[in-house]
Amino acid sequence: MKLHWKILIWMAAGIIVGFAFQKLLDGPASAGASVADGPAGGVVITKLSDHGMGKPDKATGEPPFAVGDQISAIVLNRGQTGKEAVYPTPNADEFTAQIGEIEKGSVVWFQLSDGKVRSATLPIDPDSQLSTWVEPFSFIAELFMQLLKMLIIPLVLTSIITGVAGLGGGRDFGRLGGKTFGYYILTSGLAAVTGLLLVNLIKPGIGAELGLDKTAGFGDREESFMGIFLRMIPENVFSAFSQNGQMLQVIFFALMFGYFITKTQEKERKLLLDFFTACFSVMMKLATFALSLVPYGVFCLVVKVVAQTGIGVFQPLFWYMLTVFLGLVIHSCVTLPMVLKFVGGISPWKWGNAMSPALLTAFSTSSSAMTLPVTIDSVEKRGGVSNKVSSFVLPLGATVNMDGTAIYECVGVIFLAQYYMGDQFALIDQLKVVMLAMLASIGAAGIPSAGIVMMFTILSALNLPLEGAALILAVDRPLDMCRTMTNIWSDSCGTAIVAKSEGETLFGPGTSDSGPSVHDAVAST
Ligand code: ASP
Repeated sequence: MKLHWKILIWMAAGIIVGFAFQKLLDGPASAGASVADGPAGGVVITKLSDHGMGKPDKATGEPPFAVGDQISAIVLNRGQTGKEAVYPTPNADEFTAQIGEIEKGSVVWFQLSDGKVRSATLPIDPDSQLSTWVEPFSFIAELFMQLLKMLIIPLVLTSIITGVAGLGGGRDFGRLGGKTFGYYILTSGLAAVTGLLLVNLIKPGIGAELGLDKTAGFGDREESFMGIFLRMIPENVFSAFSQNGQMLQVIFFALMFGYFITKTQEKERKLLLDFFTACFSVMMKLATFALSLVPYGVFCLVVKVVAQTGIGVFQPLFWYMLTVFLGLVIHSCVTLPMVLKFVGGISPWKWGNAMSPALLTAFSTSSSAMTLPVTIDSVEKRGGVSNKVSSFVLPLGATVNMDGTAIYECVGVIFLAQYYMGDQFALIDQLKVVMLAMLASIGAAGIPSAGIVMMFTILSALNLPLEGAALILAVDRPLDMCRTMTNIWSDSCGTAIVAKSEGETLFGPGTSDSGPSVHDAVAST
């Protein structure tokens, strides 16, 4: 059976099993905090775990609550006309009972005894029956992701070094680099502008009921975006190699290293090139092996995500999610296919078909970096692109070229600006958002939820309250899955266009539509 059908079938099975778990074994939400009766009524937090109220904030790294905080009431649907409900918490027993009735995944506000209100997203109770059943799937999904993560740094390093060194430095390097970056900038720009137009057309933030304090002090933390460029150069390459989040640094080093290999003497150049090419071959064998596991990994990942995600939390953010989703669909199904067709002269349908294993892996892992081994494999074996082009364009693209993330940043930030300021968000600021969204898409690491971390940075650069991003965090996962798919789709289209412009023939005789099997991988090792 063709690989993409196999993945799709397993993915569909994952959705069914996940939903069945959710319906049959639904578990209560968990506060992630232990409480005791407060001295003057209410409750006082005695212990925090690492989820719910104790989950560290993405922006500050600190949890929103602290041991010793006194809570006097739970507020549900805060700010939603006719739906807001305030439940005073007279004692610890009552508090636990109230939390038990809240739908998992909901954002809940807690009123503190000093009058302040803070929010937390309440996940499913880790001790519930549902969690117990999902656990084995979660475990296998984690194993699969660890395997993909293991490949990232060595794959990026060896593929860029061989790619750049193999170009022979000088002209080829400049030409390929120019085309690649030209494509990245063109498509990220188109993506951000699509987001801008849609968010202004649909206006999801105007009149939205998010329950955030509109009078909240606007941030004064000016983040320097130029910092992205500064962070690109590693202080210490070995510490960069030890973190998957530091891909830009690894790429920078690999580009330089590869380039300067071409400047060494013939003997050294040959030795180094042979060595890195050999390492890269091993990494590709490993990637091919990982590809054969994709259907099962995807199945477990989907079971986990579907079973643990409540549907109710999506309601207040429905228009926002729809706007992001529409942007991604337009960019992936209209803009990029047009670029592919008219700039590259390549059939979008045929190319999309060849890329399906990579796209489905991106969707289920929410990570461009983790998908990279599968992307390289699909582009070379199914698309027929040479290793010279793919090993240069793809690792770079997985970190630098994120069209889906650019759309997401643009829509998310303007959505929150619309919520806080209505129609007052000036055009010049909107254009600033477009620029920042493009930069954020370059700076975001290809890992799950990297986009939301960048959103905190944009919000603080614009002096908007960060609380809003914490709220949309609750619905980030499905959007992350979709935007990562767009990111990978754009990377692969770029590779095809660059390869074509270099005179390569796509879908040549050596390409296979069904992808290699485990047997191929094992037999040829
Ligand atoms: N998860 C995305 C990716 O890896 C990045 C993001 O969060 O936008 O492509």
